[in-house]
Amino acid sequence: MRNVREILMQYDFEKSRVKEFLEQHKAKRAAVQLPSGLRPKLDEINEAFDEAGVELVVMANSCYGACDLADGDAELVGCDVLIHYGHSDMGLKTRLPTLYVEARSLQRYNEAITFALPELRFNKVGLITTVQHVGLLNLLSSALLERGIEPVIGKPGPRAKYPGQILGCDMGCVRNAKADAFLYFGTGRFHPLGANIVAGKDIFSLEPSTGALTKISESGALIRSRRAMISRGASADNFGVVVSTKAGQARPSLASHLVSELRRGGKEAEIVVVNDLTPETLGDYDFDAHVCTACPRIPIDDAKRFEKPILTPFETRVLLGKANFEQYEFDEFKKSDF
Ligand code: SF4
Repeated sequence: MRNVREILMQYDFEKSRVKEFLEQHKAKRAAVQLPSGLRPKLDEINEAFDEAGVELVVMANSCYGACDLADGDAELVGCDVLIHYGHSDMGLKTRLPTLYVEARSLQRYNEAITFALPELRFNKVGLITTVQHVGLLNLLSSALLERGIEPVIGKPGPRAKYPGQILGCDMGCVRNAKADAFLYFGTGRFHPLGANIVAGKDIFSLEPSTGALTKISESGALIRSRRAMISRGASADNFGVVVSTKAGQARPSLASHLVSELRRGGKEAEIVVVNDLTPETLGDYDFDAHVCTACPRIPIDDAKRFEKPILTPFETRVLLGKANFEQYEFDEFKKSDF
């Protein structure tokens, strides 16, 4: 059954821009990639392709971010362009001309904002959000100013495109904002938890569809669970260090470095290459523990799905006595990792 919220949500699918792009590239067959939340909108998205007389091909594998482009598969099945919806361009080289349609939210949120903001009692509040809502940051800034609160919108990090835009692997906009607390406008707990760890400040999460404001205070519990994960990993002898073949998640240099460190630390370690890192892809191998150099969300959000311990790169260094757990580091991507 479709998620009611997804049916009600409206997004800007930039029909004219898509049609211009198709025409510009004289496309005959266009690959379309959608994150799961936008998949029920395929009919609406298809209108642009119908009107342009271009065949739409659905690339239905996972699509977690702009890190996860299906350009290679699209080329293989004879597509001449790729249209990637729901994420902003992070500058990856692609095998096909690629258009990013960010699918900005068209909802009006004035009411949610008006009700939520009086609960914020700080002098300077950093504003962070996902690409769907970056267009709302001006409205949020004005609403804060009206209440005598100075809004701060941090410059983006290397993988985000817009000031205030947060990614699970790039918290640059948090790091670059000098604020007393942060307001996250969006859904899910991963981004605000990450921001809480990175900034060490209170994070308030404003859920767009319900207007509910929640203070994120679970990072203590998250940190405790990660300490327990490292303890479980410490008794492992044999590590699979996982590298993803998703172009924007592949960190082979980091993985090689971690394999060397693990071996120097008296452990056995091999590089394991996967596309999607899931318990099923690793299931038949006999590693005692895994290290994830793919998307940083996996070892945190999916930890319970993995039977064996799954560690982040930082946690692996803690296990080897090369980093201090008390200065816990969120796994953000660095140039030198690739
Ligand atoms: S690596 Fe993960 S957090 Fe980063 S953009 Fe991709 S899906 Fe998002």
